[in-house]
Amino acid sequence: MSINPATHAIHADRHLDILTDVSPALHTSTTFRYPQDPDQLEPVIEGESVLDLSTPLVYSRLANANINRLETVLAPLIYPDAKQDELEQLANHVVSYSSGLSAFHAMLVNVVPKVVAIGEGYHGCHGVLSLHKKLHNLTSVDLHAPDSAWDAAGLGKGDIVHIETPLNPTGEATSIAHFAVRAHARGALLSVDSTFAPPGLQDPFLWGADFVMHSGTKYIGGHSDLLCGVLATAATDEGYKRALELRFERLFLGSVMGNMESWLGVRSLRTLALRVQRQANSATELVRWFSTALAAKDTLVCSVVHSVTHASLQSEPWLASQMPRGGGPVFALYMQSTELARRLPGLLQFFHHATSLGGVESLVEWRRMSDSGVDGRLVRVSVGVEEVGDLRADFERAFGVLGKEGKGKEGGGDGAI
Ligand SMILES: *Cc1c(COP(=O)(O)O)cnc(C)c1O
Repeated sequence: MSINPATHAIHADRHLDILTDVSPALHTSTTFRYPQDPDQLEPVIEGESVLDLSTPLVYSRLANANINRLETVLAPLIYPDAKQDELEQLANHVVSYSSGLSAFHAMLVNVVPKVVAIGEGYHGCHGVLSLHKKLHNLTSVDLHAPDSAWDAAGLGKGDIVHIETPLNPTGEATSIAHFAVRAHARGALLSVDSTFAPPGLQDPFLWGADFVMHSGTKYIGGHSDLLCGVLATAATDEGYKRALELRFERLFLGSVMGNMESWLGVRSLRTLALRVQRQANSATELVRWFSTALAAKDTLVCSVVHSVTHASLQSEPWLASQMPRGGGPVFALYMQSTELARRLPGLLQFFHHATSLGGVESLVEWRRMSDSGVDGRLVRVSVGVEEVGDLRADFERAFGVLGKEGKGKEGGGDGAI
């Protein structure tokens, strides 16, 4: 019998219930009693301890009940094709961290690559890379450079090719399979930051990923109230070995999730499928409205918006199989001018002007507020769970105001691309 991930998200942790609570208890203890019976005491043996989800709780920097439950519920979502009897084992492959960036850091600490191929994408990951460059002789090469440039940079066995798809902040997708082939041809590992396409929208392991990373702060948390990172390894013996190393190394990185955050994370996973599919559908509908209006030279939209980017506007053949349920819930608007991009957020009623994404609340961000390298005209939109018609009407209302303000200010924009 195959069980849908949406059902797993509610019931995958049932074997962990030792209390009669339907909603899991929040455990706050940092430390746990050893057995009372001296005959049951097993002293730690240097180098022989294996940390996995069956290890008794000792101290919450190793793990705690809330974290173990979160990773247990994540397993059937991250490995949607796994058989029922494999899931308990696969939960060990899902390692949670205190933030998305601490998950990325943990991966670099585990692999110790000499070369990382990386492109555009989340600026924070580049910040982590620069810390590693400071610590040892790590170099990077442009992800989109040709094979000859990768070879000249020395990218090979034990190195990392890191892609982010869909991409922050544009919401556009990249072929995972293409980069899996290029990475594996050199003995390098492929890591995929799948934050913008959480479980349900994309399974990077299907296309050759060795590591899948999420900023769980975004859709996994989903309520803008917790920080979380997730690093999952392929469902292979090699992936299992790596995951055990990651668990052991996490103990010394100290970057475990807090008790409260991991408990909130379980609460969030129950509704992941509902939230994400609705948010993605609404984003696609809004993008379709924008692109149709732009193509039809609609005066209201065209007077303020230059273009829109989202995976749903791409037509590459691999996309339909990589993202069978459509693009993610984030897209970007390039406004006609930097000034318009600065003014739009303050005029919207149902979008908070804030960074981050993935919550039930719709957000917009004039991206220059947090990313200095980005086009000044870019506004990133993270669609929440509100009724999509209300969100569209909100844009229309704001565009009306911007259009009126712009009249009489001829040539006031800096619309050049
Ligand atoms: C937010 C984000 C991160 C960083 O995650 P934190 O949880 O903020 O550390 C990494 N990658 C992407 C694509 C993100 O959006």
